[in-house]
Amino acid sequence: MLLQVSDLAVNYGVIHAVKGVSFDVNEGEIVSLIGANGAGKTTILKTISGLMRPASGKIIYEGKEIQNKKSQKIVADGISQVPEGRHIFPGLSVLENLQMGAFLRKDRDGVKADYAMVFERFPVLKERRDQDAATLSGGEQQMLAMGRALMAKPKLLLMDEPSMGLAPIFINEIFDIIQAIKKQGTTVLLIEQNASKALSIADRGYVLSTGNIILSGTGKELLANDEVQKAYLGG
Ligand code: ATP
Repeated sequence: MLLQVSDLAVNYGVIHAVKGVSFDVNEGEIVSLIGANGAGKTTILKTISGLMRPASGKIIYEGKEIQNKKSQKIVADGISQVPEGRHIFPGLSVLENLQMGAFLRKDRDGVKADYAMVFERFPVLKERRDQDAATLSGGEQQMLAMGRALMAKPKLLLMDEPSMGLAPIFINEIFDIIQAIKKQGTTVLLIEQNASKALSIADRGYVLSTGNIILSGTGKELLANDEVQKAYLGG
């Protein structure tokens, strides 16, 4: 098991956003957390990556508790996040944005090889490497955010709503790329409101509702589940 989240509770002041959530992610899997707006998905990711502290519960990564570690240490240990809304750095070029992803790495040859890997996977980033990242389209910015996260050479990639706001053609491409990232050996925890896409590529999934996990299963099982069909798949 690569990541084990156990009885995690996270609050914003008096708001209980996450209320005792437990789930795990095995090495090599794509695991999807799905759920409506406000279910607590983003809060869980932010807590795993050290941007928020839990009120209680544990996050165990590679056998060690990380819920009280600093985010920089968590990145250095191999967890990298593609944030909701991309958060690329405007005013910096595409290449400079990618460099930010590799900021903590000391293995120069590895970094060089990973630029080549990212440019091969996202040819549009190669074409636009010297362009201001702010001038990219939404889909291209999503690719840049993914490329930047990959430059940290993560073992576990956390992805927050990668399909949000994208045209269908880009959405398909993004999900293809997530599967390719898995094939290359990176484990993925994927948060999505696009439940049908997320579950169709997931080995396993969890359904989150107002801070609690209400269902879990393989991607296939959840796609076929009546409750999931009604609440998240529009039928
Ligand atoms: P979305 O898809 O909209 O991001 P989500 O499932 O990721 O939804 P969260 O963003 O984790 O949900 O929010 C969970 C709960 O915490 C919601 O009730 C939300 O209103 C609340 N919340 C989120 N951020 C804050 C904040 N900064 N201050 C107070 N409450 C917050």
